[in-house]
Parts: sequence; structure tokens; C-alpha cells
Amino acid sequence: MERIVEIERFEDEASYEVTLRPSSWDEYIGQEKIKKNLKVFIEASRKREEALDHVLFFGPPGLGKTTIANIIATEMGANIKTTAAPMIEKSGDLAALLTNIEEGDILFIDEIHRMSPAIEEILYPAMEDFRLDIIIGSGPAAQTVKIDLPRFTLIGATTRAGMLSNPLRERFGMHFRMQFYSPEELSKIVIQASHKLNKIANSDASKEMAKRSRGTPRIALRLLKRVRDFAEVVDETKISLARAKYALDELGVNNLGFDEQDIQLLQLLISAKNRPMGLSTIGAALSEDEGTIEDVLEPYLIANGYIERTARGRIATQKSYEHFKLSGLSKGVLDV
Ligand code: ADP
Repeated sequence: MERIVEIERFEDEASYEVTLRPSSWDEYIGQEKIKKNLKVFIEASRKREEALDHVLFFGPPGLGKTTIANIIATEMGANIKTTAAPMIEKSGDLAALLTNIEEGDILFIDEIHRMSPAIEEILYPAMEDFRLDIIIGSGPAAQTVKIDLPRFTLIGATTRAGMLSNPLRERFGMHFRMQFYSPEELSKIVIQASHKLNKIANSDASKEMAKRSRGTPRIALRLLKRVRDFAEVVDETKISLARAKYALDELGVNNLGFDEQDIQLLQLLISAKNRPMGLSTIGAALSEDEGTIEDVLEPYLIANGYIERTARGRIATQKSYEHFKLSGLSKGVLDV
């Protein structure tokens, strides 16, 4: 069964997300510092009539990296071409993308940490000198052909900042770490989207959805979509708190928006009885890639004080024990 608070996008959600995707700064709620900085840089480069410097966004999935890249394009009056690193398999794929770019265009590359080293090498001169070096032929007859490119802006997005190579990271003029959203911000996002869906959520209903969204707009919008269905069935014109609570409980969404993996991780750390647990042990226990635990799973739990990261490993905090209604750090193994 699909997990409703999964942060990766479900396959059938792409078109729904596009409908609800904010298209201006006003609609893009939160991330105030990032917005403030970007507005300045965008205005400056527009005044100079230059392409914006390359921008890198990092942070867990669903926090609005793709959305903000599209808003930047709108604000710059630029075309945006969107791709993801795993789709660029051969150097020719990247060359085709770059040679089709026009002055001032934006190239958005999602999951940029998954770019192969050989392709990264081609990206360096393209980002730095707006030049494409292509090697034609092989052995002694090989030749390098240099092609000048128009000045463009590369926007990279990654959930795994730690996996990005230094040379690539350094070629981005701006780096922004996306923050989890507060319940107030998520509540605004839910209300805004509910207007677009013509099924307005009451303020306390939207707060209830926000509270259970794991700090993530993608999850908040998914919950809204499901809650709306419940309201639809009973011909409710507006979404009330009672309907939202009923629907969310029916959907099995935890009060704090934790998903199964969050719960497994917390229970695992609690079962270690306050002994720090290393990332490799956690990875083995949850059958999950260490990088995913570090960059996707634990940031929300750390940001909200459920886990502490120490030099010797991760430990569950008192708040985690309380969440599971355990009396504290001396408690033993849980039934997982
Ligand atoms: P990411 O690229 O980081 O995985 P997306 O940009 O695809 O995340 O965002 C997921 C969905 O959440 C989008 O469809 C968008 O509608 C919504 N969203 C993201 N950030 C915001 C925001 N700041 N304000 C309003 N809606 C947002």
C-alpha cells in the first residue's frame, strides 16, 4: 500500500501538482530568506541584462525546489528546460541540451548529484566559460571541438548535498538550503490550494492538515486532495475541521505526520536504550541506503527535536520517548 505521507511524488501526482504549483513569489509561501536574496539577484541581473548566476538548491524532496526554479524563470522572463541527471546518460545528451539553449535560458537539472563524472566534466566549461568541448573520434586521431554557448543559467536541485562533487558545487554562484515549513506556512499553502480546487478549507481544517504534513508542501497538498474527496462524497461545500480530522484518521495519518519509516527509525533508536547508533547500523536495520537516511529521512526528525546527531551516532531524544508514551531514557526494547 502506498504511504500517504511518503515525501517522494507519486507517479499520478505530476499533473495535479502542476495545477497547484505557485507561479509567482506571492503564491510561493515561506522560504523568506531565499526569496529575499533571489529577488535582489534577479533584479540586479535584469538591470545588467545578464543571465542570472547558476543556482543550487538542496534539501529533502517536496519542499519546492522545482517550483522555485520555475518562478525564477518567470521572473527572469526566461525559457526553462527541465531534466533530471539520470536522464542524461551520454555526453551527447548533454551536448544536445546545451546546444539547444538560447541566450538567458534556464536549464533545470533535478537530482544533480546523480550526474556521471564524465558528464560533469562537460558541464564545467559550459558553466564557467559557456563553452562546450566535445571530443570527436578516439586515439591519436581524436580532436576536441570547441563550441561557444549562449550565456544561460543552470539551476541544480539535489536532496543529497553531501554527494555533490566539490568542483561542481563550486561552480554554482548561489547555494540555498530549503527549510521545512512551519505549520502556519503549510496552513496558508493548503488554503491557497483549496481555493484553486474550488473546495475551500476552513482555517482550523487547514491547520489540522498542516500539522500532519511533516513540514512538507507536497504532503500537505496530497492530504488536501484526499480530504477534499471525503468532503465531496458528503456534498460538503467547504472542508470543516471535523471532516478533515475524520478523513485524516480514516487515512491513517499520524498526528505528527510521521510515516512508517520515521516510526521505524525512532523505535529503532529507542530500542538502543540511549546508546548512539551509527548510520550503517541504522541502514542495515531499516534496509535503507545510508545517504537516504541522512538526507531524506532524518532531517525532519532532527529539525523537530526527535533525534540528536552526535559524533558517535544518532540517539532518540526525550521527545521521542514521550511521543511513544515511554517514561524515558531507561526504557527497554519496544515491540517494533
Ligand atoms: P521539490 O522539487 O523540492 O521536490 P516541488 O517544487 O515539486 O518540490 O514541490 C511539490 C509541490 O508542493 C508543488 O507542486 C507545489 O505545488 C507545492 N509547493 C512547494 N513549495 C511551495 C511553496 N513554497 N508554496 C506553495 N506551494 C508549494
